[in-house]
Amino acid sequence: MTASFSNLSLAEPLARAVADMGYEQMTPIQAQAIPVVLTGRDVMGAAQTGTGKTAAFSLPLLQRLLKHENTSTSPARHPVRALVLLPTRELADQVAQQVKLYAKHTNLRSTVVFGGIDMKPQTAELKRGVEILVATPGRLLDHIEAKNAVLNQVEYVVLDEADRMLDIGFLPDLQRILSYLPKQRTTLLFSATFSPEIKRLANSYLKDPVVVEVSRPNATASTVEQHFYSVSDDDKRRAVKQIVRQRGISQAFVFVNSKLGCARLARSLERDGLKATAMHGDKSQDERLKSLAAFKAGEVDLLVATDVAARGLDIKDVPAVFNFDVPFNAEDYVHRIGRTGRAGASGLAVTLVSNSDARLVADLEKLLKKKIDLEAIEWDDERPRGRINDGRRTWRDRGETGDERDAMDSQRERTRAPRRDEPPRYAPAQAPADPFFAQPYEPPAEDVQPAWEGDKKAAPSKVSSNIKSAKRKVAALFKTPQ
Ligand code: AMP
Repeated sequence: MTASFSNLSLAEPLARAVADMGYEQMTPIQAQAIPVVLTGRDVMGAAQTGTGKTAAFSLPLLQRLLKHENTSTSPARHPVRALVLLPTRELADQVAQQVKLYAKHTNLRSTVVFGGIDMKPQTAELKRGVEILVATPGRLLDHIEAKNAVLNQVEYVVLDEADRMLDIGFLPDLQRILSYLPKQRTTLLFSATFSPEIKRLANSYLKDPVVVEVSRPNATASTVEQHFYSVSDDDKRRAVKQIVRQRGISQAFVFVNSKLGCARLARSLERDGLKATAMHGDKSQDERLKSLAAFKAGEVDLLVATDVAARGLDIKDVPAVFNFDVPFNAEDYVHRIGRTGRAGASGLAVTLVSNSDARLVADLEKLLKKKIDLEAIEWDDERPRGRINDGRRTWRDRGETGDERDAMDSQRERTRAPRRDEPPRYAPAQAPADPFFAQPYEPPAEDVQPAWEGDKKAAPSKVSSNIKSAKRKVAALFKTPQ
C-alpha cells in the first residue's frame, strides 16, 4: 500500500520542501510514523537507514515546531526545541543536511555539532539560536559543559540509530544528556533492532510509545546475488582484485572488521593500483568527508570501511559489496549487503570466508535461515597461493582463533574509551590529527598486542562474552518486539 504526502496536510513550507525533493509517495516507515509523531506520542521505531526514517521523524517534528515559529532574530527567541542524537559524525552530518532541506522554506533554524572538528564555529551557531540541534553525544556534552547549549526548552528528542549508540558505549552520555531535558517532552527512538538493551532504554525514557516497524533485518533483498568464497587470509586481497576485474565492477564497498585492517587493506589495494580509500573511526572528520565525496563523485572505486563508520552513510545502489571479513555480528551482514541491489536494481555481495570463520558462518546461516554453500575461486593466473592457516601469525602463535581475534578488534572498534591521544572530554577540542593514520603504515608493537595485554588470564572470558553478546543480538532479531 502506498500513501501520498498530500494526505498528510503538511504545512505549506514543508509540503513545498517535500515536492522540491521529488518525493511522491511516503515510504512505509513514513506512512506509519508521521501520523503518530504528529499527535505528539512517543515512538519506538524499528527501521534501518535507507528506509526514509529521517523524513519520518523530521517532517512531523518541523510541523509541530512551526506552530510556534519565531521570525525574530534574537537568539533568545530561538531556543533548542528539538534534539536529534546520532552515533557518528557522518550520520549527524547527513541527518542535519536533510533537516535543513526539509526546513528550508521555514524560519526554523537548525545546526549540527559533532566531535573531531573545532568547537568555535559550532559555538557561534549555537549562540545565534537554533530550534533543531543535531548532535553526537560526546560533543554535545562538551557544549553543554561550556554552556553553549541549553536544553531546558527541548520539546522533542530523537534517539536515532539507538542500537549503534549503545554498541559504541554512549549509554552514560545519553543518560546524562537526557537528564538535562524537561520531563514533559516527546521522545522518539529509532533502532535497527529491538535488543533487550534497547527495550530497557525505551522503558526508562519513553512514555507509552507507539511501536512502528517496517522490516525485519533478517532478510536480504532477493535482488542481491550472494556468493561466499572459501579463501585463505593471504589470498583475500587478490580475490577482491580478481572479482572486481572479472565482473567489471565499477564501485564497491569493502567491509572489514577492524580499523587497523581497514587502513591496511585500503593501502594495499592502492598499492595494487586500485582506487581505494579507507573510512574508519580513527580518520579525521575532514578525511572522512573527503573520502565520502570522492566515492560519491566516482573518483574512488573501493570504499574500504568498518561497520561503525559505514552505517547509515547516504550512499545508495553501490554495484557490489565485499565482506573482506565475515562480520562478527550476523545482523551486520544484512546491513552491509543492504547497500547493493536497492530499489529493484541488481547487486552483488561477495563474502570471503577463511578457515577460521566457521562459527561466524554458522551464525549467519541461523540468521538467514539457509545453508551457505562455499564456492572455490577459480584463479585466473597460476601464481602461488598464500598459505592456508599457516600458523605463523603472532596471534595464532598465542593460540587464539581468527574469530576470537576479530572479536577483539570488533570490541576495540565498538568501545569508545577515549584514546590516549584524544583531547580530554570536556576540554575545548581542536581536531587532533591522528599521528598513526597520518603516516605510512608501520605496525607499532602495541597494535598487534591483544586488548587485554597485561591481563592475559582475563582474555578468554572477555572474548567469550563478546561472542555471547553477539549471539544475544542475533537471537533478539527473531523475537517479536513488544
Ligand atoms: P534515510 O533512511 O532517512 O537515510 O533516507 C534515505 C534516502 O531516502 C534519503 O536520500 C532520502 O532523501 C530518501 N527519501 C526519504 N523519503 C523518501 C520518499 N518518500 N521518497 C523518495 N525518497 C525518499
